[in-house]
Amino acid sequence: MRSGNSKDAIKWDFAEHLKYNMGVDSYSATEQDRFMALANAVRDRLINQWLQTQRTHHEKGVKRVYYLSLEFLMGRAMGNNVINAGFEEAVRDAMEELGYSFEEMREQEVDAGLGNGGLGRLAACFLDSLATLDLPAFGYGLRYDYGIFRQGVENGHQVEHPDDWLRNGNPWEIERPEVSVPVNFGGRVQAVQNAKGQTVYQWVDTDQVIGVAFDTPIVGFGGKTVNTLRLWSARANEEFSFHEFNEGDYVEAVADKVHAENLTKVLYPNDKLYLGKELRLKQQYFFVACSLADIIRRFKKSGKKWKDLPSMAAIQLNDTHPSVAVAELMRILMDHEGLTWETAWDITVKTLGYTNHTLMPEALEKWAVPMFEKLLPRHLQIIYEINHRFLSQVAIKFPGNTQKLADMSIIEEGNPKQIRMAYLAIVGSHSTNGVAALHTELLKSRLVPNFAQMWPNRFNNKTNGITQRRFLLKANPPLAKLITDTIGNGWVTNMAELKKLLPYAEDTAFRKQFAAVKAQAKQALADQVLRETGWVIETDRIFDVQIKRIHEYKRQLLNALHIIILYNRIKAGKTKGLLPRTFIFGGKAAPGYAMAKLIIKLINNISNVVNNDPDVNKYLQVYFLPNYRVSLAEKIIPAADVSEQISTAGTEASGTGNMKFMANGALTLGTLDGANIEIREEAGDENCFIFGLTADEVEELRPTYDPYKYYLENQEIKDALDLLFSGHFNFGEPNIFEPIRHTLFEGGDNYFHLADLASYTAAQDKVVAQYADQDTWVRKAIINVATSGKFSSDRTIAEYAKDIWDVKPCAIDLNTEGEETLIEATKRK
Ligand SMILES: *Cc1c(COP(=O)(O)O)cnc(C)c1O
Repeated sequence: MRSGNSKDAIKWDFAEHLKYNMGVDSYSATEQDRFMALANAVRDRLINQWLQTQRTHHEKGVKRVYYLSLEFLMGRAMGNNVINAGFEEAVRDAMEELGYSFEEMREQEVDAGLGNGGLGRLAACFLDSLATLDLPAFGYGLRYDYGIFRQGVENGHQVEHPDDWLRNGNPWEIERPEVSVPVNFGGRVQAVQNAKGQTVYQWVDTDQVIGVAFDTPIVGFGGKTVNTLRLWSARANEEFSFHEFNEGDYVEAVADKVHAENLTKVLYPNDKLYLGKELRLKQQYFFVACSLADIIRRFKKSGKKWKDLPSMAAIQLNDTHPSVAVAELMRILMDHEGLTWETAWDITVKTLGYTNHTLMPEALEKWAVPMFEKLLPRHLQIIYEINHRFLSQVAIKFPGNTQKLADMSIIEEGNPKQIRMAYLAIVGSHSTNGVAALHTELLKSRLVPNFAQMWPNRFNNKTNGITQRRFLLKANPPLAKLITDTIGNGWVTNMAELKKLLPYAEDTAFRKQFAAVKAQAKQALADQVLRETGWVIETDRIFDVQIKRIHEYKRQLLNALHIIILYNRIKAGKTKGLLPRTFIFGGKAAPGYAMAKLIIKLINNISNVVNNDPDVNKYLQVYFLPNYRVSLAEKIIPAADVSEQISTAGTEASGTGNMKFMANGALTLGTLDGANIEIREEAGDENCFIFGLTADEVEELRPTYDPYKYYLENQEIKDALDLLFSGHFNFGEPNIFEPIRHTLFEGGDNYFHLADLASYTAAQDKVVAQYADQDTWVRKAIINVATSGKFSSDRTIAEYAKDIWDVKPCAIDLNTEGEETLIEATKRK
């Protein structure tokens, strides 16, 4: 009854969990209890394949991928688990026969929000693709007690609430107290002679924290491979506190315990912003130490020789956040395992790969040497030695060039000296990849040209992707059904098959069905918003959507300025050709990022004025939907007509939101930035709306850029800015938007809002003109879906597997073991 996939077996297991796990009956059971009981019943059905997968990988001695990421933005698991495991219908029917709606039950699930934005969601999509492609893989991360904050909006301002996501328990994870890793901090290094007279280094007098593993099953589509996401939680070292206790200071011992456990208390809520905080470095090292110890323990069980580590393990570093792994792996191999520097280095470089996610200087991690030395003295020694040996290679490559030595040094001179973690990651790994074609080119030409010159073959591109299982099959059932009814379901595991839809763009009946599906998604979103906020969104309009972290480089402000231009046009009676439009925004600002928070306030204030003015709201509605997160993205994206991807060219490494929209039939309105370039290549220029300066043009303009010029030369731009800074949208809140005026003018408008505003407005005008011709619009929307296949994370992962990891699929047999063998299998052997 715990493994059968029939409707009746699921009902039985659900009822059992409700009674014997949750301890409730039909009178006392809450919706939350029923969700938990169902989640447990679903998890039961993943266990057989989970064990089967791990057993098979072990027995076959396969090479595994280890994806190390400080963030996993998983969202909800219920929907994807039942779809991938193949019993969605049975679960839905079982619940319906008991009188419950599966859809409503799913709404009880809190998002696992252990990430900020695109980087964390990419890690989550990768896990889905790795399992679906039958690749042996572990995701490693931290089990933060508090994920990304819950965003509230009060009087238009963002307010942050703690995300206590584990409050009701997490039905998907299994705690593994037996998998615990001691992690050291602080102390000092002593050099001693070993028996052979060699100098060896011991890290002593450290403080210790224990990492405990929590495992979550990751089911691939088809339900055969079930990989593991292993998250580490910090626990106090019992012996350490016991020692204090014996000395009589019980309270201090308990306080220390709390202190140690604070390590994994909370996710840092910054996206693409480096702060240099000690607690963050502790998190990073704790994470890396736990994960590498676990990987090494598993490798040792294989009985292979150290030189075989690279043929058994591919470790991918998601950004520089885990890049202290370079030094930690060297330390383990030398100080614990007794390998020579040369051997350890060869193994380290061959095992590690590094993914760069941004070129923006404020995001690049550089740890101050004194702080790093205090926490990780042995690692600092190792990094100095890596740098020393590396710089002698540089000196050979660029003879007599002392500038190159300073430029390329892993240690940046200054007060204090700083460790350039991106350089450490490049030097210490065999592969450095960017995440879209343009980004990889800029990485090589602008960020680290010397490294690209030194090791051209280390650099490669892996354009990001998204999993179509979550962002189309699960998020948009009516569209998924229409597609499958039309071309079959091959696209679910081979997204390139969406190409088969191309001929149907010319099919009137299909276009009609496609348009109906889009209308249905708009209605579903409007219903959801009404339930959650009480707002009434008109659905018979263009849905123009910008959802992503709030960041100046992403230019929500550009979108807002265009809305003010529209407002002025409507107020001036220039409504000819205007179609009713709903602008939807969503996104969190880092709590310390004042300008991003002010942009949220501006959007909300514009929303207030626009939505409440009957002259205007006929044409224009503006909504900021609070608490953007994965589960909300899944509801908004299917409803979108226009996908706003308007970052300043050269700033968005890839973007993945853009891909989700494309797959759901929204047309991209975007700059030639990140993966937008590749989206245009796939969809065709005529099926998206591209505007603005190119990355090269931005750099060319930068030295002489004068935002005033654009303000003075364009009447609509001048009128919009004059209106904004006249206080029209902040009546009773004098001068609150002054920092925006300042950044656009005196501040030099670093993100070129004013330079791009005219071409953005022209592109928006084209959107409306195009939408007026519904037939043509729907044809373009279909073509977007049909050509979105490249942006599957399955394609991305297949490329990593081949070019970087050299890992092969491992077929997993279906475990058909019945429960009659359960007792037999449990007997002492
Ligand atoms: C996809 C996704 C992102 C990334 O969006 P971009 O537009 O690429 O920045 C961020 N947050 C959530 C919740 C997502 O689902």
